[in-house]
Amino acid sequence: MPTTVPALLTDSSGGSFHRGTVERRDVGAHDVAIDVKFAGICHSDIHQAREEWGSAIFPMVPGHEIAGVVTAVGDEVTEHAVGDRVGIGCFVDSCRECEYCLAGEEQFCLKGNVATYNGRQYSGEPTYGGYSTAIVADERYVLRIPEGIGLDVAAPLLCAGITTYSPLRHWNAGPGSKVAVVGLGGLGHMAVQLAHAMGAEVTVISRSRSKEQDGAKLGADHWVATEEEGALKALRNTFDLIINTVSADVDVDGLAGTLRVGGSLVYVGAPADRQSFAVFSLIGGRRSIAGSNIGGIRETQEMLDFCGEHGIGSVVEVIGADEVDAAYDRVVEGKVHYRVVIDTATIPA
Ligand code: NAP
Ligand code: ZN
Ligand code: ZN
Repeated sequence: MPTTVPALLTDSSGGSFHRGTVERRDVGAHDVAIDVKFAGICHSDIHQAREEWGSAIFPMVPGHEIAGVVTAVGDEVTEHAVGDRVGIGCFVDSCRECEYCLAGEEQFCLKGNVATYNGRQYSGEPTYGGYSTAIVADERYVLRIPEGIGLDVAAPLLCAGITTYSPLRHWNAGPGSKVAVVGLGGLGHMAVQLAHAMGAEVTVISRSRSKEQDGAKLGADHWVATEEEGALKALRNTFDLIINTVSADVDVDGLAGTLRVGGSLVYVGAPADRQSFAVFSLIGGRRSIAGSNIGGIRETQEMLDFCGEHGIGSVVEVIGADEVDAAYDRVVEGKVHYRVVIDTATIPA
């Protein structure tokens, strides 16, 4: 018999959240049942709950930054045991046989992976995410959270952490490289910490100077405020890599102009609108504009272990279930420092 568990649901595009329940499947032979302790609020939750990326499945229980404790395991489970501290990120299944799944890059699964929420299992059942007290998933898609990282500050690593770690690794951030992070929000504050820990020289490109001191504490070496006249022009030929985390449109040509020859401007921020650029912003410096999508399971575990070794966690504001609507508005207004995390113990009525 499936289990009914408390959850926070929204019933329509842009609607408010209310308490309710969702069903979790029986624990199958390869499944892990998890008592969810904390769920981060990613800006992608807002894009989807407000249908900014297109039509969505309602009712919706968002949440793909999930941290909790294992409460039961199926007979065939080998990787996790009852009592383990674990996490779930943006997907809970993938085809397991396409070239990308075989390479451990399930985020690019050719069949389409099964999103943790606002998705469908391959059987057709809708998926419900982490704004709930429990979840069941195949052990392959469950990550180990290292000792020493609190579950509250670990939850955002499952999306914001891996989404920034993966491009930093792919584009070889490290000693001797100059990395810019555009936008100091949920993704941005992870990108700064991770790039700094990898040994890169890190610059934050923010709209204003209001968060400059926080940036320095997180490991930023320099701060640039785009509201200051000529701020980007002064940075000509500076960066090897720019990680753009902004959820809205940016000055693509201005950013590209700060790249060194061969440098890359990588989008992880996912604004709904088409972006445009002048070709001459790229060809004069053999520059690239690229995109990057979360990360695979193997790399997500690598990121968590890296965070454990380097003492890295998210900077969080923990809230109760009644504060989610207000938190969504605060994220959009850029007022969150730097990730809101829901204490799921407050969800049961
Ligand atoms: P967030 O916490 O809201 O941070 C976004 C940051 O962008 C803000 O802190 C702000 O930084 C800047 N910003 C916001 N609105 C802006 C505006 N109108 N103009 C200029 N700058 C603005 O969001 P997040 O959770 O980090 O997510 C960021 C984006 O990444 C979202 O679009 C999300 O959907 C996307 N995302 C993508 C992936 C992926 O796999 N590619 C994964 C997760 C999230 P400053 O105040 O410093 O300017
Ligand atoms: Zn996310
Ligand atoms: Zn696949």
